[in-house]
Amino acid sequence: MIVEMTTGATPEEIDGVVQRAKSLGLNIQLNFGTDRMVVAILGSNTGQLSTDIFAVFPGVASVTRVMKPYKLASREFKAEDSLVFIDGIEIGGRRIVVMAGPCAVESEEQLMEAAKAVKESGASVLRGGAFKPRTSPFSFQGLEKAGLELLAQAKEHFGIPVITEVVDPHDVNLVAKFVDILQVGSRNMQNFALLINVGKSNSPVVLKRGFSCTITEWLTAADYLLAEGNNQVILCERGIRTFEDSTRFSLDISSIPVIKRNSHLPVIVDPSHAAGHYSLVPAIAKAAVAAGADGLLIEVHPNPKEALVDGLQSLTPSAFARLMEELRPIAKSVGRHM
Ligand code: PEP
Ligand code: MN
Repeated sequence: MIVEMTTGATPEEIDGVVQRAKSLGLNIQLNFGTDRMVVAILGSNTGQLSTDIFAVFPGVASVTRVMKPYKLASREFKAEDSLVFIDGIEIGGRRIVVMAGPCAVESEEQLMEAAKAVKESGASVLRGGAFKPRTSPFSFQGLEKAGLELLAQAKEHFGIPVITEVVDPHDVNLVAKFVDILQVGSRNMQNFALLINVGKSNSPVVLKRGFSCTITEWLTAADYLLAEGNNQVILCERGIRTFEDSTRFSLDISSIPVIKRNSHLPVIVDPSHAAGHYSLVPAIAKAAVAAGADGLLIEVHPNPKEALVDGLQSLTPSAFARLMEELRPIAKSVGRHM
């Protein structure tokens, strides 16, 4: 249930609603909007309660039931767009934020070369996997802690924030010590133990869409992070599984405007995992910016032919530099900039 307070409702009036919710064993979350204050009343039995329970309180303007499964990620709870800040970089504002780098951290030389290249071309964040969730147990699983140390080294050396995936709920604190943004991968979108631990951390998080999950399930997974108090949440569309097999996944371009309509959270797009082939990445990246994405997550490898993971979908540094230039006029045409 969403309780909207009147403009100028007093702290005592807000507390009246909060205490009533608590007396009913319900949880609450507050949103201090620009012109209205909203109290979200959360609990499994709110559906059985009359909205009058809260409507009678002084200072209450309206009480509405959110019929969607997700509450805190919804526009009903927060009408204004959320902004996420990483090292002074704003995500969800006018600027298209690009995160780029190799699928996996492979060596010091590879990561430093990638970091230098993506930074020079205008990327704001360096990506690189240290823990890789691989389909086969026999595939390269990542450098793990040594990979985190290399990411921290690249951050220090190039002054660029870093993002990496966390796969184990017990590793959240360790990974958060080394990087600026935690990535929850597609295969873990509904790993609720992981979401709860990432939600308890203070780190910004990129929540990738599960490749067999609906937008509603994705936003409901985001509620797990928000419910734990982490409101630095960025969504990432990375393609879903369909009958089409000429690309690795099918990028659901419609999810961008759907997210923008139904949620206040910023959304970025990963064209690399959707495409599965480097030659398709630029067109998909441009379509994403044109459709309103707040940023991109792109795989770039100094030498894709030698990559241990996802070489086929990785851009070379020069292809990435070209794409960054080609994105500029597209961003401008939709009122954004790179
Ligand atoms: C990745 O970003 O390297 C990755 C594994 O992506 P996804 O979780 O979308 O498959
Ligand atoms: Mn990858």
